[in-house]
Amino acid sequence: MRKCPKCAARLSPLYFGAACRHCGADLLYYHFDERLEQDAQKAAAQEEKVQRLLRRLPLRRNKQ
Ligand SMILES: [Zn+2]
Repeated sequence: MRKCPKCAARLSPLYFGAACRHCGADLLYYHFDERLEQDAQKAAAQEEKVQRLLRRLPLRRNKQ
């Protein structure tokens, strides 16, 4: 069951409107924003892992 991210009202799974029927929240924006934030956090975590890994590797740039 889908829920409104703002007022937590239940939304019909068959309702694909862009705004909550109860509070008028922009559902597309809310979901998009949430996803974007999750992606950004994931990307940042991944970047940190890569950077940490690279720092552990012996640097061979000078020999090339
Ligand atoms: Zn709502």
